[in-house]
Amino acid sequence: MDRSGLCIGCGACTARSDARATGMRLDHYGQFKPPASHHPRGFAQLCPFSPDAKNEDDIARERFASAKHCDPHIGRFEAAYVGYVRENTFRTDGSSGGMASWTAVELLETNLVDGVAHVVPRSEDSELLFHYRLSRTAEDVRAGAKSRYYPVELSGVIDEMSRCPGRYAVVGIPCFIKALHLLCLQDPVLRERVAFTLGLFCGHMKSTRFVESIAWQLGEKVEAVADVDFRVKDVTRPANWYTARLLLKDGSTRSKDWWHLADGDWGAGFFQNSACNFCDDVVAETADISFGDAWAEPYASDGRGTNVVVVRSPLLRRLVDHARNEGRLELQEVDSAFVVGTQAAGFRQRREGLAFRLSRPRRGVTPKKRVAPQRAGLVPRRMTIYWLRSLVSAQSHRVFRLARILHWPAIYTRWASTMLAFYQGVTYSRGWIGKLVSRICPEMADSGRTSSDDEPGA
Ligand SMILES: Cc1cc2nc3c(=O)[nH]c(=O)nc-3n(C[C@H](O)[C@H](O)[C@H](O)COP(=O)(O)OP(=O)(O)OC[C@H]3O[C@@H](n4cnc5c(N)ncnc54)[C@H](O)[C@@H]3O)c2cc1C
Ligand code: SF4
Repeated sequence: MDRSGLCIGCGACTARSDARATGMRLDHYGQFKPPASHHPRGFAQLCPFSPDAKNEDDIARERFASAKHCDPHIGRFEAAYVGYVRENTFRTDGSSGGMASWTAVELLETNLVDGVAHVVPRSEDSELLFHYRLSRTAEDVRAGAKSRYYPVELSGVIDEMSRCPGRYAVVGIPCFIKALHLLCLQDPVLRERVAFTLGLFCGHMKSTRFVESIAWQLGEKVEAVADVDFRVKDVTRPANWYTARLLLKDGSTRSKDWWHLADGDWGAGFFQNSACNFCDDVVAETADISFGDAWAEPYASDGRGTNVVVVRSPLLRRLVDHARNEGRLELQEVDSAFVVGTQAAGFRQRREGLAFRLSRPRRGVTPKKRVAPQRAGLVPRRMTIYWLRSLVSAQSHRVFRLARILHWPAIYTRWASTMLAFYQGVTYSRGWIGKLVSRICPEMADSGRTSSDDEPGA
């Protein structure tokens, strides 16, 4: 799968293979990869990107057979909401409205689970800044709040859940949650222990080089970085104006707004894992509940942060509704069209864009998706946007590697600024490139960004 560009680095195969001891490794682009040639038995049905594995529809049909609603974009679900957590500081501490951490804590405090597998900063000095951990107290779960646009992998927590009896909740991006369900189908012990899956909507997964690049652009080396807040909350600014803040090992901090970073346009796809080019699940359709950002007005302008929430498990719906009635959550029920609207750019990239990418010739394993290959009907400018994204995501890994080897950050930052100008010119008609492109291809003037950096932007 790796050679075909279809390995997201989830670690599910490693957890099941004899290579557990060797563990997942970072490759030279800063992405997790399983040890070579250690595919466990049943691998073809286990890997979330394998064409022979069950797809999201199959898994959701089995898990949520009697779901009230079924939508072609967000899948099966009981109810969807927009809002935030009222109690404690979940909203202030979270990336959006704090609902992901709140749900995890609520599951612990109502004794529905004994532990929560989620992503937290590394406490010890390590090459990696974040990792999956099993948290067993509300404090520990709350300490993990915030989104980490950074590679992580599941093999360690899968191992711990297999060894330690108990009931667990797992927080993860869509392909990780899918991988976990596929693993549970093969592993009865894990099936019994993974009691709840909490999904995060996802635009794409980045490599470790994103943080390294932010450090470079702030005049620092990544070795000096102790922690990263990718989205510092500022209630005086719209939620989708992101600021990244590095905490350095000497205790000082450095911050920069994403739009001043050469690679801060989420939609351009810098450092994107190649497997994300072949994903068609934006909202974690196989999770019991999933959370995203409400990228729609008036919520996107509210710097305090607002979630969209899709609930698929009837038990979790009761849990959420109970807390709503008690005034602990401020949630309004919405329909699927609202949820889809908050992720419009993400769905465009994972439906129309995916159909385009599938229509292009490629080597290796052919992905089997719920979207058919198609490019007919796409205007040339739209095809150029999808092509540019693929180019930026593939080349950013290589150009950064070269800059790293030569200890010459400007090789990467100048290249990234040039690619950004091209991307924004074609996509948003920005600058002289935008004027030129609009003159040649006037059919789609997608000027001005309304979507957030957490979306693919176009
Ligand atoms: C890589 C990535 C891409 C995303 N893309 C989108 C998008 O396109 N559109 C959108 O609306 N939302 C996206 N999100 C989700 C969004 O950023 C918020 O995480 C979500 O809205 C929940 O916010 P919250 O305030 O409820 O969560 P919080 O209360 O902040 O809790 C977040 C929980 O997620 C865990 N976590 C953080 N990072 C990771 C990770 N990498 N893998 C697994 N668990 C993690 C934390 O440990 C914590 O338990 C993305 C998140 C990630 C990690
Ligand atoms: S199961 Fe996960 S880590 Fe293993 S090959 Fe597939 S995507 Fe990569």
